[in-house]
Amino acid sequence: MDEHCVEAVELLYHYLDGELTDERRVLIQHHLDDCPPCFEAYDFEAELRIVVRQKCRDHVPESLIERVAKALQECEGSAE
Ligand SMILES: [Zn+2]
Repeated sequence: MDEHCVEAVELLYHYLDGELTDERRVLIQHHLDDCPPCFEAYDFEAELRIVVRQKCRDHVPESLIERVAKALQECEGSAE
C-alpha cells in the first residue's frame, strides 16, 4: 500500500459510516476508480457492514470479529 492507499482506507471507514463530507467522498471515489486493491477492500468492507447491520444491529459477536480479522490477515498475506 502506498501513502495514498493508507489515507484512502482510513477515509473508507468514515465513508462507510456516513461521516464524510461530499468533498471527501468524491476524493475517495476517485481513488477507488484508479486503485483496484482499494476498490476490493471497499467492496469487502461495504458488504461486511451490510451483513453486520442486518444480522446484528448494534451488536457484533466476537466470533465474527475474529473471523473477519483472520480473513483480513490472510488477504494481506497473500497480496503480491
Ligand atoms: Zn489505493
